Amino acid sequence: MKKPFEVKILPKAIATLLSASLVCGMFFERSVSAETTVDAEGFVNELYTAIAGEVPDTAKVEHIKAALEDGSITGIEAAHRIVFSSEGFYANREDADFIESMKNAADNDLASLMGLPNFIFLGELENITREDVFEWYVSTHGFAMLCYNHGIEAGEYGDGNFTDPDAPMIALTFDDGPSIYTDMIIDCLEEYGQHATFFVVGYNACDFQEQIARADYIGCEIGNHTNRHANLTEINPLSAFEQLRLADKYIYMATGHAATVIRPPYGAYNDTVRRIAGVPLVLWNVDTEDWSTRDTQSTIDNILNEVQDGDIVLMHDIYESTAEAMLTVIPELTNQGYQLVTMTEIAAGRGGMEAGGAYFRFRQLDDI
Ligand code: ZN
Repeated sequence: MKKPFEVKILPKAIATLLSASLVCGMFFERSVSAETTVDAEGFVNELYTAIAGEVPDTAKVEHIKAALEDGSITGIEAAHRIVFSSEGFYANREDADFIESMKNAADNDLASLMGLPNFIFLGELENITREDVFEWYVSTHGFAMLCYNHGIEAGEYGDGNFTDPDAPMIALTFDDGPSIYTDMIIDCLEEYGQHATFFVVGYNACDFQEQIARADYIGCEIGNHTNRHANLTEINPLSAFEQLRLADKYIYMATGHAATVIRPPYGAYNDTVRRIAGVPLVLWNVDTEDWSTRDTQSTIDNILNEVQDGDIVLMHDIYESTAEAMLTVIPELTNQGYQLVTMTEIAAGRGGMEAGGAYFRFRQLDDI
């Protein structure tokens, strides 16, 4: 690994000057653009090891490396995918471990020399999210040095949403799970840095807490599909409310928050359902009929022949054929330049969503 300067032997004043020019970007930009080659492998391995305690599985990080090398993602975006990876999830289940990992990742000689505030987490943890900790991390000298050392452009953090509003996007959605096939879908989404929305039912959410937690952790969205797959228009309002509340309880147990969207079973809703929903109702405009065909190739064809920018695709992650289909669909749509996003991500910048509103697709605003 190439080091730009040996910090330990520098007098503090010089280090401060160097660091100041790093902060204002001049020294940093000139050095990176002039002669440094992009060392994506070194960047990924170093950060992965700091976050997960081990060198990553090569296959899992291939896409992160390739995207860093061709400049389609920034250092911050790559770091986000690494920190919020399954390895990060398993290694840092406790908040304290997560914070410790991020602090370790941030540490380096320059940072300690500069007396970096060490740091904001001495109290009031309840009000701090992991996303806040990540935001802190990418603002540290340690992260700037990691990028610098490997010739990576850090880029901008923004609000943690790396979706490009001008590029095409599709919302893949999975109902009725989780199931024993859900991990296969999550693995594939994670490998390609893509997201989806899982509309879970209470009786499965109870049994598959781990899958919900992991999907949520890597940036997927968890939706409510009622506790027992009830037709909400055929039961009284109190029962309907109870169906949603019970499913939310299991979602909360797995993720620490309630569902952010609802998909009413059978697509059935009325004004009462709208009133009690409390969050947006999400329907669909591309029906794969995966539940009826249970055929991998048919599910693949129904999606690839039909989808266009802004579509919401209905599937069910309780069928092996659907999970198998995703191993083709996710890479193929990624190669076609689609961003596979959550409902919240696709709605942002395309008119948004309101509690009780019902949404079938999200075209670009001027195409609606
Ligand atoms: Zn369903």
